[in-house]
Amino acid sequence: MTISASGRLMNLYRMGGYIFQTNTSIIDMTRKKFILLSASGALFAIFCLFFIIRFGHWAKRAYHYAQMDHADVYIQAGHEGRTRGSTGASSAYGREIDWTPIVADEATRVLRAAGYEVIRAPADHYKRSKVDLALSIHFDGSVNPCNTGASIGYDDPTDKPAADAWKALYDQYFPYKWMPDNFTRNLSHYYNYHYTITRDAELLLELGDISCKKQANWLKPRLKNIGGLLAYFAAERVDGNTKGVPEPKAAMAQP
Ligand SMILES: [Zn+2]
Repeated sequence: MTISASGRLMNLYRMGGYIFQTNTSIIDMTRKKFILLSASGALFAIFCLFFIIRFGHWAKRAYHYAQMDHADVYIQAGHEGRTRGSTGASSAYGREIDWTPIVADEATRVLRAAGYEVIRAPADHYKRSKVDLALSIHFDGSVNPCNTGASIGYDDPTDKPAADAWKALYDQYFPYKWMPDNFTRNLSHYYNYHYTITRDAELLLELGDISCKKQANWLKPRLKNIGGLLAYFAAERVDGNTKGVPEPKAAMAQP
């Protein structure tokens, strides 16, 4: 059978179309694969990036945790070590910066003697501490002497049970007035709360008004005993009992 010229041309056209179509589908396949591969590659890269960022975050946290100081109790003497800036209240009866270390040292000594681990910090100790209880010791002062008294500062409602416990204990001895918790911004926004990570509480304790003659005269001979009372309080908060740390009842009650 002979094929006519027009028939040959038709066949050539069909063949060309076939080749063209085949080539198009190969190109299409490659493009699809390419897009698919790129998409999965990008997803994998995003996953890797996410993992690296997460891992970096975990590593950083682990590092900071390892860098943190750990102990049972943290005791800070307010203003201690400062020569300028906030150096504390003072009056004719005494200076806060001299009194806070006496209280803090005695509380630390008693607690350590009973086997507790204590971080004893001055005013500026820019390192995080992970403890059960953190206490910052201060004495208040006022322009109008005797306008203030004892008070407690904290930054979180979870600190309140410990604050209430200290108030109930110190109030048995301290015969002057109490100001409400967090009655100043200094009390509720104390800079050092940032450095103490506590299980129980972080408290700023104003132990009395140093500018008030009556209060100062009551406080001054009892500074060490107040330290002992703080140790008793801390042991109770940390352990739920105070074995080994006696309450300095007689010493606090003496006239
Ligand atoms: Zn102070």
